Amino acid sequence: MSFLKKFTETVSKGVSTATEKAQQTVEITKLHSQISGKRKEIDKRFARIGEAVYQAYLEKDLRKAESQAIPECEAISGIRQDIEALEDRIRELRNEKECVCGNTVSFDTKFCPTCGHKFDIPEPKPVAAVPVSEIPEDSEIVEAIVEDPVPAAKTTVAYCGNCGEELKGELRFCPNCGHPAAG
Ligand SMILES: [Zn+2]
Ligand SMILES: [Zn+2]
Repeated sequence: MSFLKKFTETVSKGVSTATEKAQQTVEITKLHSQISGKRKEIDKRFARIGEAVYQAYLEKDLRKAESQAIPECEAISGIRQDIEALEDRIRELRNEKECVCGNTVSFDTKFCPTCGHKFDIPEPKPVAAVPVSEIPEDSEIVEAIVEDPVPAAKTTVAYCGNCGEELKGELRFCPNCGHPAAG
């Protein structure tokens, strides 16, 4: 790829992100109205099932409702799946995902802070290590300067006992390593 082409692509990508953000908001709103439309359709079908059951009750044979109720139930199951797909799409646009426990977390979360569920996140490709033979023998190991801890603000901040991750709010599991939070 020529340098110029690459450069042009980078620029146009930068421009599109602001617009993308606005488009996302529009799309999320659209998806929400689609979901509420589908919920109304489910309500209508529930009402039809109810009517069929009541009619059958009047005729003293509830089995008569079955032929009407079953297709309605099947349709409802289908609509529910549609709603789930729409909700997934919204989470995707918001850069979120849903845990098995129903909790919504940001997309890069490794462990659910509510139930400790481990998410499968593809490991980033390891950076090629410098072969030991290429490190000059006389190179000094410079230790990182550890600053004195800043006097803590009055809010209490918890840290993971396993990995040291800062635990904000009342988390039951460390979002970084899944270690149960103390307390
Ligand atoms: Zn969870
Ligand atoms: Zn941790």
